Amino acid sequence: EVRVRFAPSPTGYLHIGSLRTALYDYLFAKNKGGKYILRIEDTDQSRYMEGAIENMIEVLTWSGVVHDEGVFIEEGKIVQKGEYGPYIQSERLHIYKQYIEELLEKGHAYYCFCHKERLEKIREEQKEKGLMLGYDGHCRDISIEEARERVEAGEEYVIRLKFPKNRDIVFHDIIRGKITINTNDIDDQVLLKSDGFPTYHFAVVVDDHLMKITHIVRGEEWLPSAPKHAYLFEAFGWDTPEFVHLPTVLNKEKKKLSKRHGDVSVEDFRAKGYLPEGLVNYLALVGWSPESNKEFFTMDELIEEFSFERVSNTGGVFDKDKLDWVNEHYIRNKSVDEITELAIPHLLEAGYIAQEDIENRYNWISLIVSTLQERISYVAEIKEQAHFYFCNEIKPENEEVVQMLKGEQVPALIQTFKEELTQIDEIDEEFSTTIMKKIQKATGVKGKNLFMPVRSMLTGQLHGPDLDKIILILGKQNILSRIEYVEK
Ligand code: GLU
Repeated sequence: EVRVRFAPSPTGYLHIGSLRTALYDYLFAKNKGGKYILRIEDTDQSRYMEGAIENMIEVLTWSGVVHDEGVFIEEGKIVQKGEYGPYIQSERLHIYKQYIEELLEKGHAYYCFCHKERLEKIREEQKEKGLMLGYDGHCRDISIEEARERVEAGEEYVIRLKFPKNRDIVFHDIIRGKITINTNDIDDQVLLKSDGFPTYHFAVVVDDHLMKITHIVRGEEWLPSAPKHAYLFEAFGWDTPEFVHLPTVLNKEKKKLSKRHGDVSVEDFRAKGYLPEGLVNYLALVGWSPESNKEFFTMDELIEEFSFERVSNTGGVFDKDKLDWVNEHYIRNKSVDEITELAIPHLLEAGYIAQEDIENRYNWISLIVSTLQERISYVAEIKEQAHFYFCNEIKPENEEVVQMLKGEQVPALIQTFKEELTQIDEIDEEFSTTIMKKIQKATGVKGKNLFMPVRSMLTGQLHGPDLDKIILILGKQNILSRIEYVEK
């Protein structure tokens, strides 16, 4: 059975590139009828952040990339499910202790008592001489008996992996093929730190083995670490899983997607009103290409078509315009109610509506949303798009609008519009759908010459939602205010 894991460190937010890794894990597992596991790698205690695990799981759940096994949140609490737990590394320290003993016994690891000052000194020397940086093996030959005595006596230590000299490590990566590295080019990696916590490199191998992971899928920034892991599997006498190192998610300048260049966390995209379907559909295409040139995929279709064979080995470019285009498609396919729910927080934030409007004027709000749903790529854009509904001091968007309002027939149009308005209390659907006809009849102005000036007067724009909807949404008082404003 295929078993893959997504193994984030809880650093506070979920990077968009990490969501893609999780997604590929998920798609591959589901495609193979296997299991997708979420493990939390929190062995770096200095990076611990309160609430980070909960937040990460919440965001993953929102995205629809949902695991079968591992760490979950239920009623606000962290729970773990599965036969191979615990799935949080800081709860597995006793397990790492046991396996580090095994390595020591077999002679594949050794105690190292070198303190910081010494390590810094050799580093400086190596730099000066232009040598490869790394541990010089000073403690490699201390016998285990002597080492244990020194530990007993209270000396501080770490435990390092003892690579044999001058040996080729060979492993296979599904995307990159066969990779060979000589141990002379690798440092004796620290496996257990002085605080008693394992390093990532050690914990990841022990856990991937004990959790019966068949494919190690992760970002290519981990490729340089893979030989260490491959060697550890060998040293333990365990089967080595398949490796799959995914191309980095790059920005348009082909640089790593980083915080300095705008949004990188999934939360940022969610807050802007991207839909999970849109984000996931687009992310799937950053690095993977389907056989057909189809662009829109449901999760089930992605599962059906996904394979690592069609993942490129060069970086995948994250193109926000393309994301917007994909997301737009999903926005249009949602019901007005669904988009209204998502739009309300943005309309509140912009100060366009008040809390009590949500109940009292829900239909009016969703009417507004319905006129803009086709005009936004992500929900937060509604703030800009809806602005004209809420500001009676209309600003002409360009010179053409200004000229339109100075048109020779405008006074006549205004005159009739006003007369019609004085005959009613409030605008209803009947009024909004017949008023333009009435103005046409009374003035003899029609077509573009009629619609463009009225639209300009009410919105300051030449294009936009249907005029009858705009009239219905604005209502009598707002329209009179706008007319008055234009007359001035
Ligand atoms: N904890 C690592 C990370 O945060 C996981 C790397 C791996 O999947 O092996 O990216």
